[in-house]
Amino acid sequence: MIFWKQKGGIVDSKKREIGLRREKETIRKMARIYCKAHHQTKEELCEECRALLSYALERIDKCPYQEGKPVCSACPIHCYTPAMREKIRQVMRYAGPRMLLRHPILAVLHLLQSTGAKPGDRKKI
Ligand code: SF4
Ligand SMILES: [Zn+2]
Repeated sequence: MIFWKQKGGIVDSKKREIGLRREKETIRKMARIYCKAHHQTKEELCEECRALLSYALERIDKCPYQEGKPVCSACPIHCYTPAMREKIRQVMRYAGPRMLLRHPILAVLHLLQSTGAKPGDRKKI
């Protein structure tokens, strides 16, 4: 099994994979919420949101962090172009609070990941 060292411990490849999958799923759901409200779509994303989502997913796949990737919204370097960064900000600003109502578990896990806390770790929140 492949291991990545991380500050404060060792994260195995499985945990990392689960974290990345969850982050991608969160972004997909946020894009869906945003597109439905702003572009009057139903099941599919509009062309613009589809392009943004595929850009965001590609960024995650090519993320330069090999260890302890932060969530993109908390990233100190942020690899997005300024235009795409602004677009994803708009999506997150709108969809973030709504995620708590529609996908509460995913939203809370994302929040914990962005603060660096772990479920059950009350002191860090
Ligand atoms: S914004 Fe930061 S964390 Fe997200 S993919 Fe780019 S470099 Fe990685
Ligand atoms: Zn859209």
